[in-house]
Amino acid sequence: MRYLSTRGRAAPQAFTDILLEGLASDGGLAVPEQWPRLSATQLEAMRGLTYPQLAFEVLRLFADDLPGAELRALTARAYTADVFGTPDITPLKTLSPNFHLLACSNGPTLAFKDIAMQLLGHLFESVLERQGRTLNILGATSGDTGSAAEHALKGKSRVKVFMLSPAGRMSPFQRAQMYGLDEPNIFNLAVDGVFDDCQDLVKAVNGDAAFKEKHAIGAVNSINWARIVAQVVYYFKGYFAATKSNSEQISFAVPSGNFGNIFAGHVAKRMGLPIRRLVLATNENDVLHEFFQTGRYRPRRTADTRETSSPSMDISKASNFERFIWDMVEQDGDKVSWLWRQVEEKSGFDLSVERAWERINDESGFVSGKSTHENRLETIRRVKREFGVVVDPHTADGLKVALAANDTRTPMVCVETALPAKFEATIVEALGAAPARPKGFEGIESRPQRCDRMPPDAEALKRYIAARA
Ligand SMILES: *Cc1c(COP(=O)(O)O)cnc(C)c1O
Repeated sequence: MRYLSTRGRAAPQAFTDILLEGLASDGGLAVPEQWPRLSATQLEAMRGLTYPQLAFEVLRLFADDLPGAELRALTARAYTADVFGTPDITPLKTLSPNFHLLACSNGPTLAFKDIAMQLLGHLFESVLERQGRTLNILGATSGDTGSAAEHALKGKSRVKVFMLSPAGRMSPFQRAQMYGLDEPNIFNLAVDGVFDDCQDLVKAVNGDAAFKEKHAIGAVNSINWARIVAQVVYYFKGYFAATKSNSEQISFAVPSGNFGNIFAGHVAKRMGLPIRRLVLATNENDVLHEFFQTGRYRPRRTADTRETSSPSMDISKASNFERFIWDMVEQDGDKVSWLWRQVEEKSGFDLSVERAWERINDESGFVSGKSTHENRLETIRRVKREFGVVVDPHTADGLKVALAANDTRTPMVCVETALPAKFEATIVEALGAAPARPKGFEGIESRPQRCDRMPPDAEALKRYIAARA
């Protein structure tokens, strides 16, 4: 399997080449040169597999330059009951006969990002070992991505992590998850500023090509292709758990921000998994809902991005969306380049007058909806009342939109993207009481914490990294 760029101008590369990379050389995102299609026989053979076996069967189609035995060992090491609390890794919880939750948040940081990050940790270690290289991951986080990356990469010998976060702006729980780590290869930097200042610092360091090269600076951001592939696996797992035979169709509802999670569902559908609808849910930051309603993609300015009670979906533009559009314009790189030039020059594009828009409406299975803070509180109360289950505000976004779709004939699987313990304040607001904490998370806020303070100054950051990388 070779990988191309969505903008069509980069030389084809192998999986291990794009694994450690950010953007392609032409500014696009890595995409496989064709979608692997599973035959009915192959799909049938997958039904009885355990999670790590299923992960291996999916991954080997995309990562065919890694030795099979090694890939099998990596998936077995990443997906254990020890790390995810259950051998099912992503168990299906049935709320009512055709309505389910896919529990993807049982990893070390209680959000679905652990599923991809845990695998990435092992993949990085293996590839760096084979190439005799080391890597310094530099990232910015407002909460979930940074902690998932740190918990996946802690203790790995060839990787160091430098993670910037806005001082005083994460929840006490998120802060404890990151700053509570005491590992020699993890460096937490609390920046005097907001999330955008952190991101600007990362950009400034990456803009210094000599520094980047000298210190082998890498990233684990949401456009990483391996993260998408790792997420494809739980769509298969959820499908097999919610159906008895491969002649059945099901739908998925997905709380969305950067479009990485739901795009993995699109990939699963392209591979032949019988998915009817992909229900995309946004919060008040509804750039994606607006697109699926109108065909117009209009990224917001940072100043127009609202802070909401589902903060991991507070995005102004959806980075993985470019991969979906590439697929919908028949993988035409020139067309994608032109569209994203419109984003830069005219602040957006309009597909509603194009053939691609028919394809999106008739073939992709995508539908969308949005929720407000009030909707999420209501949904949290309703789901508690009707099903006896407490969900987090992101999952409530998805449930709200799925319940409104009201298609009772097709089984609906809602992806649970975080546990309620992570967003205690909103649960207290909705239910009047704090959610249960999983074992091992009691009182984490009062454990010792460790981080270094940093002004929003790229030179100071470079000196910090150079002294420790
Ligand atoms: C990251 C995240 C999302 C958004 O997922 P995308 O892949 O960016 O669309 C939703 N919910 C939670 C809890 C998250 O951490």
